[in-house]
Amino acid sequence: MIGATTSGELRTHNRVRLLRAVHDCGAARTRSQLTRDLRLARGTASVLVAGLAEDELLHEEPAREHARGRPTQVPGPHPRGPLALAVDVREDAWELAACELGGRTTVLDLQPHDGTPEGVLGPLGEAIAGHRRRLGHRVVGVGVALAGPVRHGGLVDIAHLGWRSVDVPRLLGVEAEPIVGNDTAFAALAEARRGRLRGVRVGLHLHVDFDLGGVLVVEGRPLGGASGTGAEFGHMPLTGGDRLCPCGAIGCWGMDVGANALLRHVGLAYGGGRGRAQAEQVLATSEEAVAANARALGRGIAALVNAHDPEVVTLSGHGVELSERAGKVLMDSCGPGLMAIRRDQPPRIEGSALVWRGALLGAMESVFDAFLTPEGLETWRENHPDQARDTPERRNVTHSTLKGARPL
Ligand SMILES: [Zn+2]
Repeated sequence: MIGATTSGELRTHNRVRLLRAVHDCGAARTRSQLTRDLRLARGTASVLVAGLAEDELLHEEPAREHARGRPTQVPGPHPRGPLALAVDVREDAWELAACELGGRTTVLDLQPHDGTPEGVLGPLGEAIAGHRRRLGHRVVGVGVALAGPVRHGGLVDIAHLGWRSVDVPRLLGVEAEPIVGNDTAFAALAEARRGRLRGVRVGLHLHVDFDLGGVLVVEGRPLGGASGTGAEFGHMPLTGGDRLCPCGAIGCWGMDVGANALLRHVGLAYGGGRGRAQAEQVLATSEEAVAANARALGRGIAALVNAHDPEVVTLSGHGVELSERAGKVLMDSCGPGLMAIRRDQPPRIEGSALVWRGALLGAMESVFDAFLTPEGLETWRENHPDQARDTPERRNVTHSTLKGARPL
């Protein structure tokens, strides 16, 4: 039961479902497949697709391969359709991309930064404003991933850079109204939507950059915690170390996994979001440093598996290369840490197919989650000059969705 009580509500409901399905499948399924998936009548699907094309929300292309008979159409993003601006702010640089419905992503800007809140967010805010002006009504939202705990409302702490309660939305500029989130939580969301946690009921995602972040993903949702700062498995004392972490705690797991730990292992300077190129060099050349990282990673994973019983553990960022280069070391370190009852069927540990794109794609997903709603589509129509001159019948249908009885 969907609870839509008027034909207008039903139409809006089906528009959202269809756009959602196109987005989630990466614009890869044909109209007839989607019609079956969503249990729509063929005629209903035709009318829906035509209406969405008219509103510049969808555009159909012939399928590349199709069986004999009528060519099959594949609904995908409209060339003048909605765009999510997604940003991945790492400790040393930020990357800004425009993302279409379906998830196709075009990187627009990649800039190093000095690590200060003003030095990061001032130029980034200007870049966002510039792209919004250029792209106009097509930009339906901005999602920003940051490498630290993010409280609801966008207050951010990045211990490695000395950020305490930085008001990210304010420093980006009021016009941006961004959805701000933690990079690991966004990477986990992307993994759940279009990576190796898709369809997984309980998964554990770990994102390794300068240090390590981790979050439990349940039914496709990363657990955000009461204040939004939940994705912090990296700040648990899982490896028995006694170093003081910049976060203020002692012996954090993240001190032993990631670029900073690699640099420290070979005696190079580390911290403050510097040294990415040297760390990549260490990762590519120092078996010993890689093994030490992989051992610490495996040991911590065992502890989290004991606690949470995930089906799959996914690794993004440097975690992919660590598991490829030192998979055996990782597993040998993980195994003895598992409770006996976990050893018969230990969870799979897999590198993410999204590698470094997860945080950016998760930021995109959060924007489209807000857009792919009756309210989001209504705002799109209101912002479309062409749609304002719609036929009277269509306008009535639209208005009836606003005024009709509330769904039960
Ligand atoms: Zn810590």
